[in-house]
Amino acid sequence: MQRTDPEGIVLVCDFCRRDWDGQEPMIEGHHGSIICLECLKQALAQQGTGGEKYTCTLCLRFNIPPKVPNWKNPAHPEAVICQECMYQSARTFSRTEGVDWKFEPGAHPPLVKLPKPAPEEAPPS
Ligand SMILES: [Zn+2]
Ligand SMILES: [Zn+2]
Repeated sequence: MQRTDPEGIVLVCDFCRRDWDGQEPMIEGHHGSIICLECLKQALAQQGTGGEKYTCTLCLRFNIPPKVPNWKNPAHPEAVICQECMYQSARTFSRTEGVDWKFEPGAHPPLVKLPKPAPEEAPPS
């Protein structure tokens, strides 16, 4: 997210609400949403299921079923990241030059795919 200070626009991680220092690796989602590497690491380690349907802050998909793992920072539960965004961001961080961190997909739960919408009822034959 962005915050407008007297000095100008400050980028802020949606998940921990820390100001971006201009150096730290961060990934931008839709509508200016941002996650920092530290939050992403926590998301990967603490992802969980259950609760209500949710909207992902980064990809803006909504009505995501709670069986798709997600994470939010208990201190700022308004922002939620879905598992797909976690893994996508993790791969991006892994490829980013200067980021001393590598994503190990095998160390994390497999990606839960969203079920496809129910097919149209077949016409009676
Ligand atoms: Zn953060
Ligand atoms: Zn997402």
